[in-house]
Amino acid sequence: MTEIDILKSIAENLSERKSSAALNNYQVLCNNIKYVNNLFDFGVKSLSIIQGQVENTLKNDNLVKDELINSTKPLYYFRQIIPRILLNDISISEKFLAYTKPDNREGITVDNVGKLAKSFIDYNNLVTSARQFIDSMVADAYQMIIFDPKEMNYQVLLSLNSFNKYVTKSIRQALFNSEIESSLTEFEQLNFNQWSNSTITKCSHKTFAKKVDYIFSTLNITTENDLKEEIKNLFKFSSEFTHIGYVSTFFTSTSGDEVIFGDEISPYLPSTENFSELKYEILSTAINFFSKIYLPATIYCFRKIFKQDTFNIIEPSVVQINNKILTDFKTRNNQYYFFIKQGLIGSDETIPLTCMCQTTNNWKPPHDLTNIYCKNCGSKFNLLEIEGDPGYIITSNGPAKVIGSSAPDFDKLPVEKRIEILKKCEEARKQNE
Ligand SMILES: [Zn+2]
Repeated sequence: MTEIDILKSIAENLSERKSSAALNNYQVLCNNIKYVNNLFDFGVKSLSIIQGQVENTLKNDNLVKDELINSTKPLYYFRQIIPRILLNDISISEKFLAYTKPDNREGITVDNVGKLAKSFIDYNNLVTSARQFIDSMVADAYQMIIFDPKEMNYQVLLSLNSFNKYVTKSIRQALFNSEIESSLTEFEQLNFNQWSNSTITKCSHKTFAKKVDYIFSTLNITTENDLKEEIKNLFKFSSEFTHIGYVSTFFTSTSGDEVIFGDEISPYLPSTENFSELKYEILSTAINFFSKIYLPATIYCFRKIFKQDTFNIIEPSVVQINNKILTDFKTRNNQYYFFIKQGLIGSDETIPLTCMCQTTNNWKPPHDLTNIYCKNCGSKFNLLEIEGDPGYIITSNGPAKVIGSSAPDFDKLPVEKRIEILKKCEEARKQNE
């Protein structure tokens, strides 16, 4: 291509926005956004309880490691700093949660469907809150792991230095005491090259990407390379929005006429669906980061500051939160296999498919095999046809009733029959081991 070809493609593509439908289903997206937002909310509230416990425990000399007891030692001050970092992260996460709630579709009709339209401000708020979340949480996880006074000084003095450039007198007076003034003066006397390596400051991993690499390698996370790239990509993508890049601004600020879509809940617009798709993607990256990287970073830090006995009490509660998030999140957009009586697919019967999330999806004829999924959790269904009427199929995960079978539901079976089936499942499980 020549430079004119390139410029032509830009002129034509970035001047007229095409209305495009998201590939995902809007109703599923809204349900999953609600589910993951709630799950994340649980994680943040639980972290808040742990923050309180950690703050109290750190006040007790008997519970912390020796190197944190003596106030002439630098690590002593982390007893105040660590709870503050956790509190900071809780506030940032709460803001992020506020911007990643599902759309409210109550009372939406064809006349007021415009309320659901998403514009520059919505996109900018969503992506900026994601940027603040990932940026700060990575920086704080880094501090909790590297656990070095000079590294901490660098991060805080850098922030203080910028803040001080423009802040009003009254805020300055309310916030800065003489000790912090002197610290800042000391920092200002360093030349720029000394900032990251001086007698009072240090920064061994300056960029976001280098901090991410350091966190992954120190926590010894070797199986999550996709997540590592995803975090870095979210950072770059959000830079585009936060710094008002051409593409993001164009994409979100041009309002064209939109066609109106609809499902069984209400009408909606393509821009609403596109926005939800992005919101869900960001939420997924964030909750993965929170459970797989951030919480393990707190554990890493707690191991450094608490005596073994104390650590043994705190660690299980963090692990428990983590396990719940990971297990519950896995139920979204899953793949499930169901057994179905042969002859049912293609018949004129509506087939009830009850998902693992307890939602019954009524699959109407003509049965379209290319697109069977749960409207609630987005999980895909794979159907295995079974000849005759066997009632139950024994699997290592438990008994599975064949869809369309004349057998009664499992809880309606006589007790002895239930025990017999469960014994067979137990045998199947042992064989699988
Ligand atoms: Zn489901």
